[in-house]
Amino acid sequence: MTKLFIASLGTETNTFSPFVTSYQDFQATYMTRGGDHGPDPFIFAVPLITWRQMAEARGWDVVESLCTFAMPSGVTLRRVYEQLRDEILADLQAAMPVDVVLLSLHGAMVIEGYDLPPEEQGDVDCADGEGDLLARIRALVGPDVPIGAELDLHCHLTQKMVASADVLITFKEYPHTDFAERAEELFTIVADQLAGRVKPVMSLQDCRLIGVFHTSREPMRSFVDAMQRMEQQEGVLSVSLGHGFPWGDVPDMGTRALVVTDDRPEEGARLAQELCRRIDAIKEEVQPAYLTIDEALDQALDLAAQPGEGPVVLADVSDNAGGGAPNDATFILRRALERGVHDVAFANFWDPVVVQLAMNAGVGARFALRLGGKMGPMSGDPVDLTATVIGIAPDAVQTVGKPPRTARSRMGDAVGLRLDNGLEIQVNSHRTQSFSPDALTQVGIDPLAKALVVVKSMQHFYAGYGPIARAVLYVAAPGALYPRFDQLPYRQVDPTLWPLGA
Ligand SMILES: [Zn+2]
Repeated sequence: MTKLFIASLGTETNTFSPFVTSYQDFQATYMTRGGDHGPDPFIFAVPLITWRQMAEARGWDVVESLCTFAMPSGVTLRRVYEQLRDEILADLQAAMPVDVVLLSLHGAMVIEGYDLPPEEQGDVDCADGEGDLLARIRALVGPDVPIGAELDLHCHLTQKMVASADVLITFKEYPHTDFAERAEELFTIVADQLAGRVKPVMSLQDCRLIGVFHTSREPMRSFVDAMQRMEQQEGVLSVSLGHGFPWGDVPDMGTRALVVTDDRPEEGARLAQELCRRIDAIKEEVQPAYLTIDEALDQALDLAAQPGEGPVVLADVSDNAGGGAPNDATFILRRALERGVHDVAFANFWDPVVVQLAMNAGVGARFALRLGGKMGPMSGDPVDLTATVIGIAPDAVQTVGKPPRTARSRMGDAVGLRLDNGLEIQVNSHRTQSFSPDALTQVGIDPLAKALVVVKSMQHFYAGYGPIARAVLYVAAPGALYPRFDQLPYRQVDPTLWPLGA
Protein backbone atom coordinates (compact mmCIF):
# COMPACT_ATOMS: atom_id res chain seq x y z
CA MET A 1 0.00 0.00 0.00
CA THR A 2 1.23 3.52 -0.85
CA LYS A 3 2.22 5.43 2.27
CA LEU A 4 2.04 9.25 2.39
CA PHE A 5 3.80 11.26 5.09
CA ILE A 6 2.52 14.82 5.74
CA ALA A 7 3.55 17.63 8.10
CA SER A 8 3.55 21.41 8.46
CA LEU A 9 6.02 23.77 10.11
CA GLY A 10 5.94 27.46 9.37
CA THR A 11 6.26 31.07 10.26
CA GLU A 12 7.09 34.27 8.39
CA THR A 13 10.15 35.91 9.91
CA ASN A 14 10.55 39.68 9.99
CA THR A 15 14.23 40.08 10.88
CA PHE A 16 13.55 43.75 11.76
CA SER A 17 10.92 42.76 14.36
CA PRO A 18 11.87 43.29 18.03
CA PHE A 19 10.33 39.91 18.99
CA VAL A 20 11.75 36.40 18.92
CA THR A 21 9.55 33.43 18.01
CA SER A 22 9.29 30.92 20.86
CA TYR A 23 7.69 27.52 21.33
CA GLN A 24 4.80 29.31 23.03
CA ASP A 25 4.26 31.38 19.88
CA PHE A 26 3.82 28.20 17.82
CA GLN A 27 1.52 26.76 20.50
CA ALA A 28 -0.56 29.93 20.70
CA THR A 29 -1.09 30.22 16.93
CA TYR A 30 -1.56 26.62 15.79
CA MET A 31 -0.16 23.31 16.94
CA THR A 32 -1.75 19.95 16.39
CA ARG A 33 -0.52 16.41 15.88
CA GLY A 34 -1.82 13.38 14.04
CA GLY A 35 -4.51 15.23 12.07
CA ASP A 36 -6.66 16.58 14.89
CA HIS A 37 -7.74 19.82 13.16
CA GLY A 38 -11.29 20.48 14.35
CA PRO A 39 -13.85 22.60 12.50
CA ASP A 40 -11.74 25.78 12.06
CA PRO A 41 -8.37 24.69 10.63
CA PHE A 42 -5.66 27.28 10.12
CA ILE A 43 -4.87 28.00 6.46
CA PHE A 44 -1.56 26.12 6.62
CA ALA A 45 -3.46 23.06 7.94
CA VAL A 46 -5.89 23.06 5.00
CA PRO A 47 -3.34 21.46 2.63
CA LEU A 48 -2.86 18.56 5.07
CA ILE A 49 -6.60 17.99 5.28
CA THR A 50 -6.85 18.15 1.48
CA TRP A 51 -3.99 15.69 0.97
CA ARG A 52 -5.42 13.24 3.50
CA GLN A 53 -8.79 13.25 1.70
CA MET A 54 -7.19 12.78 -1.72
CA ALA A 55 -4.88 10.04 -0.46
CA GLU A 56 -7.58 8.11 1.37
CA ALA A 57 -9.79 8.31 -1.73
CA ARG A 58 -7.01 6.38 -3.50
CA GLY A 59 -6.71 3.86 -0.68
CA TRP A 60 -3.35 5.21 0.49
CA ASP A 61 -2.10 5.02 4.04
CA VAL A 62 -1.55 8.49 5.59
CA VAL A 63 0.87 9.28 8.42
CA GLU A 64 0.40 12.82 9.72
CA SER A 65 3.07 14.36 11.94
CA LEU A 66 3.23 17.82 13.49
CA CYS A 67 1.22 20.71 12.04
CA THR A 68 2.28 24.01 13.57
CA PHE A 69 2.53 27.67 12.64
CA ALA A 70 3.63 30.77 14.57
CA MET A 71 2.22 34.23 13.88
CA PRO A 72 4.69 36.24 11.82
CA SER A 73 7.28 37.69 14.18
CA GLY A 74 11.02 37.97 14.67
CA VAL A 75 13.64 35.21 14.28
CA THR A 76 12.73 31.73 15.49
CA LEU A 77 14.82 30.60 18.45
CA ARG A 78 17.29 27.98 17.23
CA ARG A 79 16.48 25.39 19.90
CA VAL A 80 12.77 25.78 19.11
CA TYR A 81 13.31 25.22 15.38
CA GLU A 82 15.50 22.19 16.15
CA GLN A 83 12.91 20.73 18.52
CA LEU A 84 10.03 21.07 16.03
CA ARG A 85 12.19 19.88 13.10
CA ASP A 86 13.43 16.88 15.05
CA GLU A 87 9.88 15.91 15.99
CA ILE A 88 8.95 15.77 12.30
CA LEU A 89 12.13 13.87 11.40
CA ALA A 90 11.56 11.36 14.22
CA ASP A 91 7.97 10.77 13.06
CA LEU A 92 9.23 10.29 9.50
CA GLN A 93 11.92 7.88 10.63
CA ALA A 94 9.32 5.87 12.55
CA ALA A 95 7.00 5.80 9.52
CA MET A 96 9.69 4.60 7.08
CA PRO A 97 9.55 3.29 4.49
CA VAL A 98 7.25 5.96 2.99
CA ASP A 99 6.40 6.46 -0.68
CA VAL A 100 5.63 10.19 -0.75
CA VAL A 101 6.28 13.22 1.51
CA LEU A 102 4.09 16.36 1.30
CA LEU A 103 4.72 19.45 3.42
CA SER A 104 2.81 22.66 4.05
CA LEU A 105 5.45 25.33 4.71
CA HIS A 106 5.60 29.11 4.62
CA GLY A 107 9.05 29.58 3.11
CA ALA A 108 10.29 32.63 5.01
CA MET A 109 11.37 31.13 8.34
CA VAL A 110 14.67 32.54 9.58
CA ILE A 111 16.46 30.98 12.53
CA GLU A 112 18.32 32.81 15.28
CA GLY A 113 21.97 33.14 14.20
CA TYR A 114 21.18 33.82 10.51
CA ASP A 115 23.38 36.94 10.63
CA LEU A 116 26.47 35.05 11.86
CA PRO A 117 29.18 33.91 9.41
CA PRO A 118 28.27 30.47 7.95
CA GLU A 119 30.96 28.66 9.96
CA GLU A 120 29.39 29.97 13.18
CA GLN A 121 25.91 28.82 12.15
CA GLY A 122 27.09 25.22 12.55
CA ASP A 123 24.94 22.51 11.02
CA VAL A 124 21.77 24.61 10.58
CA ASP A 125 21.25 26.89 7.55
CA CYS A 126 19.72 29.63 9.71
CA ALA A 127 18.81 31.97 6.84
CA ASP A 128 16.80 29.23 5.09
CA GLY A 129 14.69 27.31 7.61
CA GLU A 130 12.64 25.47 5.00
CA GLY A 131 15.71 24.62 2.91
CA ASP A 132 17.28 23.15 6.03
CA LEU A 133 14.18 21.05 6.81
CA LEU A 134 13.74 19.84 3.22
CA ALA A 135 17.41 18.85 2.92
CA ARG A 136 17.18 16.74 6.08
CA ILE A 137 14.01 15.06 4.87
CA ARG A 138 15.68 14.29 1.55
CA ALA A 139 18.68 12.83 3.37
CA LEU A 140 16.35 10.57 5.35
CA VAL A 141 14.09 9.27 2.55
CA GLY A 142 16.75 9.11 -0.16
CA PRO A 143 16.66 10.35 -3.76
CA ASP A 144 13.74 8.28 -5.06
CA VAL A 145 10.86 9.26 -2.75
CA PRO A 146 8.90 12.23 -4.18
CA ILE A 147 8.91 15.28 -1.88
CA GLY A 148 6.43 18.09 -2.53
CA ALA A 149 5.86 21.32 -0.61
CA GLU A 150 3.28 24.08 -0.77
CA LEU A 151 4.54 27.55 0.18
CA ASP A 152 3.14 30.98 0.91
CA LEU A 153 4.01 33.35 -1.95
CA HIS A 154 5.81 35.57 0.62
CA CYS A 155 8.65 33.05 0.65
CA HIS A 156 12.33 33.11 -0.18
CA LEU A 157 12.62 30.53 -2.97
CA THR A 158 16.12 29.16 -2.51
CA GLN A 159 18.30 26.87 -4.59
CA LYS A 160 18.58 24.59 -1.56
CA MET A 161 14.79 24.17 -1.38
CA VAL A 162 14.63 23.45 -5.12
CA ALA A 163 17.50 20.96 -4.88
CA SER A 164 15.90 19.11 -1.96
CA ALA A 165 12.30 18.79 -3.23
CA ASP A 166 10.72 17.36 -6.38
CA VAL A 167 7.85 19.85 -6.63
CA LEU A 168 7.35 23.24 -4.96
CA ILE A 169 4.15 25.25 -5.49
CA THR A 170 3.39 28.68 -4.02
CA PHE A 171 0.04 30.38 -3.50
CA LYS A 172 -0.85 32.58 -6.47
CA GLU A 173 -3.21 35.01 -4.72
CA TYR A 174 -2.55 37.93 -2.32
CA PRO A 175 -4.73 38.17 -0.25
CA HIS A 176 -4.27 34.39 0.09
CA THR A 177 -7.44 32.63 -1.02
CA ASP A 178 -6.15 29.71 -3.11
CA PHE A 179 -4.33 27.48 -0.60
CA ALA A 180 -6.74 24.54 -1.10
CA GLU A 181 -6.52 24.60 -4.93
CA ARG A 182 -2.74 24.74 -4.83
CA ALA A 183 -2.73 21.75 -2.43
CA GLU A 184 -4.85 19.73 -4.87
CA GLU A 185 -2.51 20.55 -7.75
CA LEU A 186 0.57 19.56 -5.77
CA PHE A 187 -0.97 16.24 -4.77
CA THR A 188 -1.94 15.48 -8.36
CA ILE A 189 1.54 16.19 -9.72
CA VAL A 190 3.28 14.13 -7.06
CA ALA A 191 0.80 11.25 -7.45
CA ASP A 192 1.43 11.29 -11.21
CA GLN A 193 5.16 11.25 -10.52
CA LEU A 194 4.78 8.25 -8.23
CA ALA A 195 2.78 6.47 -10.93
CA GLY A 196 5.52 7.17 -13.47
CA ARG A 197 3.27 9.38 -15.61
CA VAL A 198 5.40 12.54 -15.23
CA LYS A 199 8.96 13.47 -14.29
CA PRO A 200 8.79 16.88 -12.56
CA VAL A 201 11.75 19.19 -13.12
CA MET A 202 11.96 22.64 -11.51
CA SER A 203 13.39 25.77 -13.15
CA LEU A 204 14.06 28.72 -10.83
CA GLN A 205 14.71 32.24 -12.07
CA ASP A 206 15.70 35.23 -9.94
CA CYS A 207 13.71 38.30 -11.09
CA ARG A 208 16.20 40.54 -9.27
CA LEU A 209 13.70 42.84 -7.61
CA ILE A 210 11.85 43.50 -4.34
CA GLY A 211 8.18 44.36 -4.25
CA VAL A 212 4.68 43.96 -2.86
CA PHE A 213 2.12 42.59 -5.32
CA HIS A 214 -1.63 42.76 -4.62
CA THR A 215 -3.14 40.25 -7.03
CA SER A 216 -6.65 41.64 -6.50
CA ARG A 217 -5.79 44.61 -8.74
CA GLU A 218 -4.64 45.11 -12.32
CA PRO A 219 -2.15 44.58 -13.77
CA MET A 220 -1.28 41.82 -11.25
CA ARG A 221 -4.67 40.22 -11.84
CA SER A 222 -3.79 39.68 -15.50
CA PHE A 223 -0.32 38.46 -14.51
CA VAL A 224 -1.88 35.67 -12.41
CA ASP A 225 -4.25 34.83 -15.27
CA ALA A 226 -1.23 34.58 -17.59
CA MET A 227 0.49 32.18 -15.15
CA GLN A 228 -2.58 29.98 -15.23
CA ARG A 229 -2.67 30.03 -19.03
CA MET A 230 0.99 28.99 -19.04
CA GLU A 231 0.02 25.93 -16.98
CA GLN A 232 -2.25 24.80 -19.83
CA GLN A 233 0.74 24.45 -22.15
CA GLU A 234 1.93 20.99 -23.10
CA GLY A 235 4.47 19.69 -20.63
CA VAL A 236 4.03 22.48 -18.06
CA LEU A 237 2.94 21.14 -14.67
CA SER A 238 2.95 24.23 -12.45
CA VAL A 239 3.97 27.90 -12.48
CA SER A 240 4.67 29.94 -9.32
CA LEU A 241 5.84 33.42 -8.48
CA GLY A 242 7.55 33.70 -5.10
CA HIS A 243 6.89 37.36 -4.32
CA GLY A 244 9.47 37.27 -1.51
CA PHE A 245 9.10 38.74 1.98
CA PRO A 246 10.91 42.10 1.92
CA TRP A 247 11.30 42.29 5.72
CA GLY A 248 13.43 39.13 5.87
CA ASP A 249 17.04 40.30 5.58
CA VAL A 250 18.50 37.10 4.07
CA PRO A 251 20.67 36.53 0.98
CA ASP A 252 17.87 34.81 -0.96
CA MET A 253 15.25 37.53 -0.43
CA GLY A 254 13.61 38.78 -3.63
CA THR A 255 11.01 37.93 -6.23
CA ARG A 256 11.61 34.64 -8.06
CA ALA A 257 9.76 32.64 -10.70
CA LEU A 258 9.52 28.85 -10.52
CA VAL A 259 8.27 26.62 -13.33
CA VAL A 260 7.74 22.88 -12.96
CA THR A 261 7.76 20.97 -16.25
CA ASP A 262 7.47 17.34 -17.22
CA ASP A 263 11.21 16.91 -17.84
CA ARG A 264 11.59 19.99 -20.06
CA PRO A 265 14.17 22.04 -18.16
CA GLU A 266 14.97 24.33 -21.09
CA GLU A 267 11.32 25.15 -21.68
CA GLY A 268 10.90 25.68 -17.91
CA ALA A 269 13.86 28.06 -17.78
CA ARG A 270 12.51 29.98 -20.77
CA LEU A 271 9.07 30.38 -19.17
CA ALA A 272 10.56 31.39 -15.80
CA GLN A 273 12.60 34.06 -17.59
CA GLU A 274 9.47 35.24 -19.36
CA LEU A 275 7.63 35.59 -16.04
CA CYS A 276 10.51 37.63 -14.63
CA ARG A 277 10.46 39.88 -17.72
CA ARG A 278 6.73 40.46 -17.30
CA ILE A 279 6.94 41.25 -13.60
CA ASP A 280 9.92 43.52 -14.22
CA ALA A 281 7.88 45.50 -16.76
CA ILE A 282 5.11 46.28 -14.25
CA LYS A 283 7.11 46.43 -11.00
CA GLU A 284 6.91 50.18 -10.49
CA GLU A 285 3.29 50.52 -11.52
CA VAL A 286 2.01 47.84 -9.12
CA GLN A 287 3.67 49.05 -5.90
CA PRO A 288 1.13 50.60 -3.52
CA ALA A 289 1.30 54.41 -3.30
CA TYR A 290 2.52 55.29 0.21
CA LEU A 291 2.12 58.72 1.82
CA THR A 292 4.07 60.34 4.64
CA ILE A 293 2.13 60.88 7.86
CA ASP A 294 1.56 64.57 7.12
CA GLU A 295 0.61 63.93 3.49
CA ALA A 296 -1.88 61.31 4.65
CA LEU A 297 -3.42 63.56 7.33
CA ASP A 298 -3.67 66.45 4.83
CA GLN A 299 -5.33 64.32 2.16
CA ALA A 300 -7.62 62.61 4.67
CA LEU A 301 -8.84 65.92 6.12
CA ASP A 302 -9.47 67.25 2.60
CA LEU A 303 -11.41 64.16 1.61
CA ALA A 304 -13.40 64.14 4.87
CA ALA A 305 -14.43 67.78 4.33
CA GLN A 306 -16.11 66.92 1.02
CA PRO A 307 -19.68 65.59 0.76
CA GLY A 308 -19.81 61.84 1.22
CA GLU A 309 -20.27 59.08 3.73
CA GLY A 310 -17.99 57.03 5.93
CA PRO A 311 -14.56 57.71 7.37
CA VAL A 312 -11.31 58.07 5.48
CA VAL A 313 -9.31 54.99 6.48
CA LEU A 314 -5.54 55.38 6.95
CA ALA A 315 -3.53 52.15 6.99
CA ASP A 316 -0.45 52.21 9.22
CA VAL A 317 1.21 49.52 7.08
CA SER A 318 4.53 49.66 8.96
CA ASP A 319 3.04 48.53 12.28
CA ASN A 320 1.22 45.38 11.17
CA ALA A 321 1.29 42.40 13.52
CA GLY A 322 0.51 40.22 10.47
CA GLY A 323 4.08 40.89 9.29
CA GLY A 324 5.78 40.72 12.67
CA ALA A 325 5.41 44.31 13.92
CA PRO A 326 4.43 45.12 17.52
CA ASN A 327 1.21 47.08 16.75
CA ASP A 328 2.18 49.59 19.43
CA ALA A 329 3.77 52.31 17.26
CA THR A 330 2.72 55.82 18.18
CA PHE A 331 3.97 57.90 15.23
CA ILE A 332 0.58 58.63 13.64
CA LEU A 333 -1.19 59.11 16.99
CA ARG A 334 1.45 61.55 18.16
CA ARG A 335 1.28 63.56 14.93
CA ALA A 336 -2.54 63.66 15.02
CA LEU A 337 -2.40 65.04 18.58
CA GLU A 338 0.29 67.59 17.66
CA ARG A 339 -1.79 68.81 14.72
CA GLY A 340 -5.05 68.94 16.66
CA VAL A 341 -6.68 66.23 14.51
CA HIS A 342 -9.23 64.86 16.99
CA ASP A 343 -12.13 63.51 14.90
CA VAL A 344 -10.32 60.20 14.54
CA ALA A 345 -10.44 56.64 15.90
CA PHE A 346 -7.41 54.33 16.21
CA ALA A 347 -7.91 50.56 15.95
CA ASN A 348 -5.91 47.66 17.42
CA PHE A 349 -3.23 49.30 19.52
CA TRP A 350 -1.42 46.50 21.37
CA ASP A 351 -0.78 47.41 25.00
CA PRO A 352 -1.68 44.71 27.55
CA VAL A 353 -0.72 46.92 30.49
CA VAL A 354 -3.12 49.68 29.46
CA VAL A 355 -5.85 47.09 28.81
CA GLN A 356 -5.39 45.70 32.33
CA LEU A 357 -5.46 49.17 33.90
CA ALA A 358 -8.62 50.09 31.99
CA MET A 359 -10.36 46.83 32.87
CA ASN A 360 -9.51 47.28 36.55
CA ALA A 361 -10.77 50.87 36.48
CA GLY A 362 -14.01 50.02 34.66
CA VAL A 363 -16.24 51.85 32.20
CA GLY A 364 -16.56 55.55 33.05
CA ALA A 365 -13.22 55.81 34.85
CA ARG A 366 -10.95 58.67 33.74
CA PHE A 367 -7.23 58.39 34.44
CA ALA A 368 -3.71 59.13 33.18
CA LEU A 369 -1.95 56.43 31.22
CA ARG A 370 1.11 55.83 29.04
CA LEU A 371 0.20 54.16 25.73
CA GLY A 372 2.30 52.20 23.23
CA GLY A 373 5.89 52.80 22.14
CA LYS A 374 7.20 50.04 24.40
CA MET A 375 8.86 47.58 22.01
CA GLY A 376 11.78 49.66 20.80
CA PRO A 377 12.79 52.51 18.52
CA MET A 378 10.56 51.30 15.69
CA SER A 379 7.51 51.80 17.91
CA GLY A 380 8.34 55.46 18.67
CA ASP A 381 7.99 56.89 22.17
CA PRO A 382 5.06 56.11 24.49
CA VAL A 383 2.30 58.74 24.52
CA ASP A 384 1.06 60.11 27.84
CA LEU A 385 -2.69 60.66 27.81
CA THR A 386 -5.65 61.20 30.08
CA ALA A 387 -8.52 59.02 28.90
CA THR A 388 -11.96 57.81 29.89
CA VAL A 389 -12.82 54.12 29.52
CA ILE A 390 -15.86 53.89 27.22
CA GLY A 391 -16.05 50.14 26.58
CA ILE A 392 -14.65 46.79 27.69
CA ALA A 393 -14.85 43.52 25.71
CA PRO A 394 -13.22 40.51 27.40
CA ASP A 395 -12.01 37.74 25.03
CA ALA A 396 -12.89 39.83 22.00
CA VAL A 397 -12.64 38.61 18.41
CA GLN A 398 -12.81 40.47 15.11
CA THR A 399 -14.22 39.25 11.83
CA VAL A 400 -11.72 38.33 9.09
CA GLY A 401 -12.62 38.39 5.40
CA LYS A 402 -15.83 39.11 3.53
CA PRO A 403 -19.18 37.46 4.27
CA PRO A 404 -20.20 34.71 3.80
CA ARG A 405 -16.65 33.22 3.94
CA THR A 406 -15.40 34.73 7.18
CA ALA A 407 -13.17 33.60 10.01
CA ARG A 408 -12.50 35.13 13.42
CA SER A 409 -9.28 36.50 14.87
CA ARG A 410 -8.59 36.71 18.58
CA MET A 411 -7.91 40.14 20.10
CA GLY A 412 -7.58 39.05 23.73
CA ASP A 413 -9.26 41.58 26.02
CA ALA A 414 -10.16 44.86 24.33
CA VAL A 415 -11.01 48.33 25.67
CA GLY A 416 -12.21 51.62 24.19
CA LEU A 417 -10.64 54.88 25.41
CA ARG A 418 -11.83 58.46 24.76
CA LEU A 419 -9.65 61.54 25.23
CA ASP A 420 -11.21 64.82 26.39
CA ASN A 421 -10.79 66.19 22.84
CA GLY A 422 -12.92 63.36 21.42
CA LEU A 423 -10.12 61.23 19.89
CA GLU A 424 -10.85 57.54 20.51
CA ILE A 425 -8.49 54.56 20.72
CA GLN A 426 -9.20 50.82 20.82
CA VAL A 427 -6.53 48.83 22.67
CA ASN A 428 -6.17 45.03 22.85
CA SER A 429 -4.08 42.64 24.93
CA HIS A 430 -3.39 40.07 22.16
CA ARG A 431 -1.24 41.37 19.31
CA THR A 432 -3.25 41.37 16.09
CA GLN A 433 -3.53 43.41 12.92
CA SER A 434 -6.77 45.25 12.04
CA PHE A 435 -9.30 43.19 10.14
CA SER A 436 -12.74 44.64 10.75
CA PRO A 437 -14.61 47.66 12.21
CA ASP A 438 -16.22 45.31 14.75
CA ALA A 439 -12.93 45.67 16.68
CA LEU A 440 -14.10 49.24 17.36
CA THR A 441 -17.86 48.88 17.74
CA GLN A 442 -17.67 46.27 20.48
CA VAL A 443 -15.79 48.70 22.75
CA GLY A 444 -18.11 51.65 22.15
CA ILE A 445 -16.34 53.36 19.24
CA ASP A 446 -18.46 54.15 16.15
CA PRO A 447 -16.19 54.31 13.08
CA LEU A 448 -19.02 55.77 10.98
CA ALA A 449 -19.17 58.79 13.31
CA LYS A 450 -15.49 59.61 12.73
CA ALA A 451 -13.86 61.63 9.95
CA LEU A 452 -10.75 59.41 10.06
CA VAL A 453 -10.03 55.86 11.20
CA VAL A 454 -6.42 54.65 11.54
CA VAL A 455 -5.90 50.88 11.24
CA LYS A 456 -2.74 48.82 11.72
CA SER A 457 -2.55 46.46 8.73
CA MET A 458 -0.91 46.14 5.32
CA GLN A 459 -3.83 44.94 3.21
CA HIS A 460 -6.03 42.39 5.01
CA PHE A 461 -8.04 45.23 6.66
CA TYR A 462 -9.45 46.06 3.24
CA ALA A 463 -12.11 43.32 3.31
CA GLY A 464 -13.67 44.74 6.49
CA TYR A 465 -12.97 48.48 6.22
CA GLY A 466 -13.18 48.92 2.44
CA PRO A 467 -17.00 48.79 2.40
CA ILE A 468 -17.41 51.57 5.02
CA ALA A 469 -14.52 53.78 3.87
CA ARG A 470 -14.97 56.95 1.86
CA ALA A 471 -11.34 56.50 0.82
CA VAL A 472 -8.35 54.38 1.85
CA LEU A 473 -4.85 55.86 2.20
CA TYR A 474 -1.65 53.84 2.80
CA VAL A 475 0.79 55.54 5.18
CA ALA A 476 4.55 54.90 5.36
CA ALA A 477 5.12 55.75 9.03
CA PRO A 478 8.30 54.42 10.67
CA GLY A 479 8.00 50.84 11.94
CA ALA A 480 9.04 47.21 11.65
CA LEU A 481 7.39 46.91 8.20
CA TYR A 482 8.48 50.23 6.77
CA PRO A 483 7.57 49.84 3.08
CA ARG A 484 10.25 51.95 1.39
CA PHE A 485 12.73 49.17 0.65
CA ASP A 486 15.54 51.47 -0.48
CA GLN A 487 15.59 52.85 3.08
CA LEU A 488 15.59 49.54 5.01
CA PRO A 489 18.87 48.70 6.83
CA TYR A 490 19.53 45.51 4.84
CA ARG A 491 22.82 43.72 5.50
CA GLN A 492 22.32 40.30 3.84
CA VAL A 493 20.07 41.16 0.90
CA ASP A 494 21.71 41.56 -2.53
CA PRO A 495 22.25 45.35 -2.76
CA THR A 496 21.95 45.33 -6.56
CA LEU A 497 18.27 44.29 -6.56
CA TRP A 498 15.69 46.85 -7.68
CA PRO A 499 14.92 49.31 -6.11
CA LEU A 500 18.08 49.16 -3.97
CA GLY A 501 20.64 49.32 -6.76
CA ALA A 502 18.47 51.21 -9.23
ZN1 LIG B 1 1.80 35.66 2.72
